[in-house]
Amino acid sequence: MTAMCSGAFPIAAAGAQIGEIAPALQLVWWTVIGLFVGSFLNAAIYRLPREGLTVTRPVRSICPSCKKSLAWHENIPLVSWLVQRGRCRGCRAPISWRYPLVESLTAAAWLWIAYETGVEHWDLIAVRVLVLSGLIVATFVDFEFFEIPDEVSIGGMLLAPVASFLVPALHEHSWLALELSQGAELDRTGALLASLIGVATGYGGLWTVAFLAERAYGKEAMGLGDVKLLGAAGGFVGPLGALVVLVIASFVGALVGVANIGRLLCFLRRRAASRRSARGWSDSLRAARCAGQMLPFGPYLALGTALALVYWNHLREWF
Ligand SMILES: [Zn+2]
Repeated sequence: MTAMCSGAFPIAAAGAQIGEIAPALQLVWWTVIGLFVGSFLNAAIYRLPREGLTVTRPVRSICPSCKKSLAWHENIPLVSWLVQRGRCRGCRAPISWRYPLVESLTAAAWLWIAYETGVEHWDLIAVRVLVLSGLIVATFVDFEFFEIPDEVSIGGMLLAPVASFLVPALHEHSWLALELSQGAELDRTGALLASLIGVATGYGGLWTVAFLAERAYGKEAMGLGDVKLLGAAGGFVGPLGALVVLVIASFVGALVGVANIGRLLCFLRRRAASRRSARGWSDSLRAARCAGQMLPFGPYLALGTALALVYWNHLREWF
């Protein structure tokens, strides 16, 4: 280790040390850390939307049913859930399958980011896995509560410019970031400005869509949480990236929406047939459309952001 690495820049020193480990081992390292972070995300998903609970309070995890504090060996990601066969050791209440799902999803997401980014760019990986972790929390909270925690959306909007300044490579190959840089190469100022314009584009763009949709349909079509989430996404992927996120989210969201309406329609027709009801197809379709349209948009924005975060630079080069 050189003197510069050891004292003044502990993060750089850590990065240099990680860089000496074989790439395959580094991938394993990111995956295992992801698994443990997934366990923390589970706590965030449970606590953030519930009043009186914060990520840090209470310090120890508790069983939601019997309120018993969990011992360390009841809190090992994936392993505890499997050993206890998905039940609390104290009261035998079932523990949701969401816990092992979020843990394995986070581990897989971290592995994917590390692999796609290249282990030598550990600073870029660090920012991206942080973003992905926030997106996982937003996704599961939105599915359950139809809201996106401000900690994720506003937190992301604040973090994005800082992260862009610290790791300008986030906006690598961005024409705008290059234009806004002082020299011929991308610099911190260019990345910072591109990030701020990205936040404004994501937030402003979706706010306009939401405003127009509300005028057209006469009711709220999209929550402000989605608007803030796209603002945060824009800060990490830039203004054009924000539009790509919106296109992916709208496309996948529409596909899922249509599939959901179809599923409800089948259910209603089967029920009408079994009850020998006189209800016609158009009635069923109207009911299915009414119920099927109630879908959160956050998970699709999260999916679009994850894809844009990793592949948008490649796509831009390809164009
Ligand atoms: Zn219990």
